[in-house]
Amino acid sequence: MSQHRISTQCLHAGYTPANGEPRNIPIIQSTTFRYTTGEQMGALFDLEASGYFYTRLQNPTNDHVAAKICALEGGTAAMLTSSGQAASFYAIFNLVSCGEHVVCSSSIYGGTYNLFAVTMKRMGIDFTFVDPDCSEEELEAAFRPKTRAVFGETIANPALTVLDIEKFARAAHAHGVPLIVDNTFATPVNCHPFQWGADIITHSTSKYMDGHANAVGGAIVDSGTFDWNAHAGKFPGLTTPDESYHGITYTERFGLEGAFITKATVQLMRDLGAIPSPQNCYYLNIGLETLPLRVARHCENALAVARYLKDHPKVAWVRYPGLEGDPYFERAQKYLPNGTCGVVSFGVKGGRAAASKFMSGLELASIATHVADAKTCTLHPASTTHRQMTDEELHAAGVSPDLVRLSVGIEDIRDILADVEQALAQV
Ligand code: PLP
Repeated sequence: MSQHRISTQCLHAGYTPANGEPRNIPIIQSTTFRYTTGEQMGALFDLEASGYFYTRLQNPTNDHVAAKICALEGGTAAMLTSSGQAASFYAIFNLVSCGEHVVCSSSIYGGTYNLFAVTMKRMGIDFTFVDPDCSEEELEAAFRPKTRAVFGETIANPALTVLDIEKFARAAHAHGVPLIVDNTFATPVNCHPFQWGADIITHSTSKYMDGHANAVGGAIVDSGTFDWNAHAGKFPGLTTPDESYHGITYTERFGLEGAFITKATVQLMRDLGAIPSPQNCYYLNIGLETLPLRVARHCENALAVARYLKDHPKVAWVRYPGLEGDPYFERAQKYLPNGTCGVVSFGVKGGRAAASKFMSGLELASIATHVADAKTCTLHPASTTHRQMTDEELHAAGVSPDLVRLSVGIEDIRDILADVEQALAQV
């Protein structure tokens, strides 16, 4: 399937039914799988044979959908998780242990920031947050001898900064560690972080991939190109025997292409169990089938909204990386030449109170703790998703108190603009 273009892959990759088999990916709603001999089951436990034995680790429906996302991102192996949060946690925790350290862009989703700065810190993993637009020297200064990974978002939620993927990849590789990129907002339709040096990609599939606000989920994709063996001392979990798994060494048994995802599956999924239901994976697949159509329409509509807001007298500022004159326009042209995302951030003149009035005035768009589904919705991050942050932390994450995040949907653009216009008229 890899020779096909992305629209074709979105429909066909990951599952090829044989004669007489279901045309759609079947929902295998079963926790368990039957075998006739103990030896067969034993071979599965020893990872000597491939097959399914318990859905907490793997399920065929999930694997077909993971294989599709793997193809879309151009990776060698992928897994689905029950949320984007679980994907971010697994991607880091698969590599980094207590006492070790991660360099992270400060411009990331508030929930990810909380996971890293609070919850994972309690596990003894330290994060240094760097301005994504820092100089190479400043980035370099953030590394420590115990640094084991670098993390950033292609397009950050909600600040809409565009990551200089090559700069972050260069710094990570100079220190013998991988770059993990959250590609949720861009999707593989608009950006391929592996082409620019990223090693591992994460997704909240709850967003554009699912696209209809049906199912919370996440994904992790490995490029298969990071040479764990060349930095074996840093990654003993991948390069030395795992006593909790019959002494297998993941890089030896599964190669660079499969070691990372196999370890995350058989260790982290086994022990932590953040597996999505087959039913949710089925919904995700339906979303993936139309991803390129929807993403193109989201981008077209968002650009029209951004242009409209830019010229509106009641709007203080607008941020959209696809908008001419945006600070990230040039970088977006490089990494995301076909479009960026459907999310626009802006400030209503009059600050926090005016922002709140504008949102209450919207009729078509809903106020929702979500972005990136088919229907237009809006949120005020400072009082919701990012409310745990201090003003200083908000500033570092690129979120000002008056910031309104508008997730532009795929409705008729004339109706979206009319709604924005009448809501602004009430401010
Ligand atoms: N990454 C990004 C960029 C997000 O926007 C989100 C959620 O909004 C997440 C990760 C977390 O994903 P989930 O809500 O599926 O756990």
